[in-house]
Amino acid sequence: MINASVVRFVYQKTGAQLYYIANDDIDRVFDLTFRTEAPDDTGTPHVFEHAILSGSEKYPSAQLYANLRNQTYNTFMNAFTYHRYTSYPVSSMSEAQLLKLADFYTDSCFHPMVMEDESIFRTEAWRYRLNDPDDPLSIEGTVYSEMLGKRSVERTRRTWGRIC
Ligand SMILES: [Zn+2]
Repeated sequence: MINASVVRFVYQKTGAQLYYIANDDIDRVFDLTFRTEAPDDTGTPHVFEHAILSGSEKYPSAQLYANLRNQTYNTFMNAFTYHRYTSYPVSSMSEAQLLKLADFYTDSCFHPMVMEDESIFRTEAWRYRLNDPDDPLSIEGTVYSEMLGKRSVERTRRTWGRIC
């Protein structure tokens, strides 16, 4: 369908697979995908998806991902957590830009700062917070807030569907 040649490489030591897909499309894509089956419903793979993009050995900045996403010549840059795997795709019409962004994703995935800095995990994961002893406990965390927003949108869509 995309008029491409595909070469599959398998690293015998780990079983890691690399697919090289070549065609005439100048919008080039790089994607790292890992099997991340969730052990339970606490959202651990999603928390690590976020935490991994919060700085790495070579790129020790929590804000760099947002800057790269908004200020480079990429045509797409995001990360996704599905039920069984986590994916970090990026694309660009500039090969030089794509190689730099691929280097950022690769170092983020294989040398993330979250392994050394627990505060990154605490920021992304859901957690209880008590602002004042008389206040009720609240739940916070980047991923928790994101999931609340997603549920709100889904609830709005369901309601809208009933109206229509
Ligand atoms: Zn997320």
